[in-house]
Amino acid sequence: MKPLAIFGGTFDPIHLGHLCVAWEASELLDAEVLMMPSGIPPHRPPPIASAQQRVAMLRAALRGQSRLILDARELTRSGPSYTVDTMIELRAEQGERPLVLLLGADAFAGLPGWHGWRRLFELAHIGVLSRPGEQAVLPDVLQREISGRRVAGPAELRTLPAGKLVELSVTPMEISSTRIRELIAAGREPCYQLPAGLFDDPQLLAPYRR
Ligand code: ATP
Repeated sequence: MKPLAIFGGTFDPIHLGHLCVAWEASELLDAEVLMMPSGIPPHRPPPIASAQQRVAMLRAALRGQSRLILDARELTRSGPSYTVDTMIELRAEQGERPLVLLLGADAFAGLPGWHGWRRLFELAHIGVLSRPGEQAVLPDVLQREISGRRVAGPAELRTLPAGKLVELSVTPMEISSTRIRELIAAGREPCYQLPAGLFDDPQLLAPYRR
């Protein structure tokens, strides 16, 4: 069965790094990718742009293709956006279909800080996306949890609904939302780091301007 992949983030704003790695993951896994903005991210300061503004940017960014699909379910839940709750919901919806939670290497290294993190392996496979500047020194608890879970390639994820770990080697894109927010606040226009659609409506990037 074709897997379904999930790529969560604050997307404050969505940038070409997100899109490029999500697209490549979609190709490598032969899967659609749900792009899932988090409402109240539990592990970091609140986003600058509102949920509505981040959704508007995602809509503009995802126009014209059908592999990367906006899923805004976390924005309608009250309280912190725990990934484990989302994966429980998706598992109930998708039956035995393989689910692949995509995490950048930085996010993966921080996984043991997430609420209910061990449960994630019962609910989904994890696909770790390489990210420039992230030398994965994994905490011991995470090393222990993943020992025996690594598979050689994405094809092996199709035979089971959850529980494996695959490293997806994607084109290095040294782009971050933090840097983009800094540039825009300084009056710059980082046009080749952001999807072109974000410049069509001047309101979309307004939250980051000073
Ligand atoms: P910020 O700078 O605000 O922390 P970010 O650029 O890291 O933002 P997020 O929305 O926090 O973006 O990231 C969502 C997911 O995308 C995370 O799993 C993160 O590791 C991954 N990610 C973001 N940018 C890249 C990139 N350039 N290459 C690979 N993975 C990335």
